[in-house]
Amino acid sequence: MSLITQLFNLLYPPRCPSCGAMVAHDGDWCPACLAAIWHPRRINKPPAVRHLSACYCLADYRGA
Ligand SMILES: [Zn+2]
Repeated sequence: MSLITQLFNLLYPPRCPSCGAMVAHDGDWCPACLAAIWHPRRINKPPAVRHLSACYCLADYRGA
């Protein structure tokens, strides 16, 4: 981690983008918010898309 990054993190500590709780690294989500959106599952793919064997959705894209 560069000195500039350390100084920036000291002035602006990394925070969860959803609730603002402090997190370890920039871009991380806190465990509560991540658990609320992280629901990986297989979804239906359009029959016309033949080059994919499956499609997956990793999170819910609403709310936070
Ligand atoms: Zn959060």
